[in-house]
Amino acid sequence: MSTLRFKALETVQHRKKITVTAPSQKVSDYFNSNVFNDTAMKKFLSKEAYQAVNNAIKNGDKIDRAIAGHVATGMKNWAMSKDATHYTHWFQPLTGATAEKHDAFFEPTDDGGSEEKFSGNALVQQEPDASSFPSGGLRNTFEARGYTAWDPSSPAFIMEGTNGKTLCIPTIFVAYTGEALDYKAPLLKALHAVEKAVVDVCSSYFDKNVKKSFASLGIEQEYFLVDEALFNARPDLMLTGRTLLGQSPEKGQQLEDHYFGSIPPRVYDYMLDFEIEAYKLGIPLKTRHNEVAPSQFECAPMFEEVNLAIDHNQLLMDVMEKVAQKHGFKVLLHEKPFAGVNGSGKHNNWSLITNTGVNLLSPGKTPETNLQFLTFFINVIKAVHDHADLMRASIAAAGNDHRLGANEAPPAIMSIFIGSQLTHILNDFVSNKTSIKVDSKSSIDINKIPEILLDTTDRNRTSPFAFTGNKFEFRAVGSSANSASAMTVLNTIMADQLNKFKTEVDALIKKGNKKEDAIISVLKSYVKSSKNILFEGNGYGNEWVKEAAKRGLSNIKTTPEALNAYISKKSKELFSNNHIFNARELDARYEIMQENYVKKIDIEAKILAQLAISHVIPSALIYQQKLSENVASLKAIGLKKNSYDAQLKFIEEISKYVNHIRVCVEKMIAENEKAHHIENTHKCAIAFCHKVKPLFDEIRNSSDALEFIVEDDLWKLPKYRELLFVK
Ligand code: ADP
Ligand code: MG
Repeated sequence: MSTLRFKALETVQHRKKITVTAPSQKVSDYFNSNVFNDTAMKKFLSKEAYQAVNNAIKNGDKIDRAIAGHVATGMKNWAMSKDATHYTHWFQPLTGATAEKHDAFFEPTDDGGSEEKFSGNALVQQEPDASSFPSGGLRNTFEARGYTAWDPSSPAFIMEGTNGKTLCIPTIFVAYTGEALDYKAPLLKALHAVEKAVVDVCSSYFDKNVKKSFASLGIEQEYFLVDEALFNARPDLMLTGRTLLGQSPEKGQQLEDHYFGSIPPRVYDYMLDFEIEAYKLGIPLKTRHNEVAPSQFECAPMFEEVNLAIDHNQLLMDVMEKVAQKHGFKVLLHEKPFAGVNGSGKHNNWSLITNTGVNLLSPGKTPETNLQFLTFFINVIKAVHDHADLMRASIAAAGNDHRLGANEAPPAIMSIFIGSQLTHILNDFVSNKTSIKVDSKSSIDINKIPEILLDTTDRNRTSPFAFTGNKFEFRAVGSSANSASAMTVLNTIMADQLNKFKTEVDALIKKGNKKEDAIISVLKSYVKSSKNILFEGNGYGNEWVKEAAKRGLSNIKTTPEALNAYISKKSKELFSNNHIFNARELDARYEIMQENYVKKIDIEAKILAQLAISHVIPSALIYQQKLSENVASLKAIGLKKNSYDAQLKFIEEISKYVNHIRVCVEKMIAENEKAHHIENTHKCAIAFCHKVKPLFDEIRNSSDALEFIVEDDLWKLPKYRELLFVK
């Protein structure tokens, strides 16, 4: 037998150790070396150009075209000093992946020679052939123009390929009408909105010195590693990122011995290698460890400003994939590569930080700073409470549907965990116990606002959105997602909420209330009205599903339904009031996301049908034939039926499962056809979700039963135990 599976297993056995050499023992020697950062800018830009870029980064000022020319030249000189030959605008279209279109610096000249050029125009704007990127109807194909425009707030960097280096310029991607076609453009708007709102609230009520602020984000990235040869023997993994078939391994994570266990040497080498590449790109990776499931790992960087953190995460996923090749690994970023095994998330740790260095979600030491903390803390709760469905929509994707509500990941019910101490504090806060009065002279009576010392070990891993001491952790984000979706929503709802808060407090002050009284009174009303989203218990339990229903919280399990929140009247108002999306952009985005869902399920259905018909059934039939021959020969030598009972039973079972698979595959193909004929994209997605997809499990169950019965040598697809444990 030399099927792909056995060849692959052989390949894994003979893998050679890859030597990894860091440019230096000290990361600080090469951290950021491929980034056009402050040091590089100072060296390669004129004073004037440097100042212009800095103003753009710090204040969002526009850079005029003349200066852009100088910046481009400096950037080119820097890139060429690092042996880059090409440049590209690097952007994040709604396909999910990052996109690049490389152009050479090199240009022939009239006199037959050539030179390396990079103009200000090329830096600021590019017009990639955009017709093949999703636009949801924002562009007609005959008017396919889309522009990428430089985002100076995220530094340019050099991507090293195996044969050459490219200068990458982070950009936004918009239609020629200005409407967003990517993740970054709306994100930048949301970040701008939240900054403005934060500064407004802080400087009006707490600290006049707060002139600027930023939202911070630390992204924990979970992933699986499988050997490349085994991966290539699994068409489902190759084409859908997850296994559509496969019996759970005998030794699964039930032993829970993998979490924080020692990292296997081959994996360790891989981690070192991608970390080196990440450091060169300025990605501040801090943490690496095993995760709960076998072959599952996690890495996390030090938090950064949200836009930068997201660019870095997108870049990191790319780097992880590229470096994996060198090590004979495939990195699986899918939310649920293996049924019955833990899925992967991308925890988004988020906070708000002022230019005075204050983390607004960090409890303070004095009553005044604690009132500030409570203000931001409670406004987050209120925002998430009021827009829970939108938060759910922001993480909706076909892959993530396998996690949310699937009994081992945060549920599809949006709730907030705040820990027992803060629960007490909020209870006291709204009850009469701490009816906080402000005394006449000093700002707040010292005894009225409790000192908040948090027990940071108070964690809840089953909550989709948890307070973890000085930040909120949005744990329900999917591992393959671009965090921009979640962060655009979170920062928008926070901006909107803070503006409302400000209006309410100001109104009370105008009526003659003291500032602190006004703040406290509004906060109290928020705690009361959003209390039902707070949940401290086990988010994975069935009781929570019942309890949440009682509380009126929604529990939207599938992507096509969850996405509806994007186009509700309430969301359209929210986004347009805060200048994030207009209604057309939302409709377009909604369309694209529904389409993406359809495409994913459609591909899965096709691959599954293929595997079932051309891999699973033939193996089963060969084994059945073997069994029949065995029965015939036992009969021939005169043995009684009870001596081949077992064989007969297997023969029957195989027929039963094979038939069941055949029937279900036919049904699935028919449902798929039908669904394709539905014109309305949402209805089409619903059909894929509720008519096509349920058949996956039916087919899978029978296939997995066959995998259990059929002689191991005859099974063509690498098994779970091989994918998960062979390294
Ligand atoms: P855990 O696994 O216990 O949740 P990790 O250390 O793996 O913790 O990840 C925590 C993440 O939160 C890190 O990326 C860290 O930089 C980030 N983080 C810490 N403080 C903040 C903050 N104020 N704002 C945003 N992210 C933060
Ligand atoms: Mg975490």
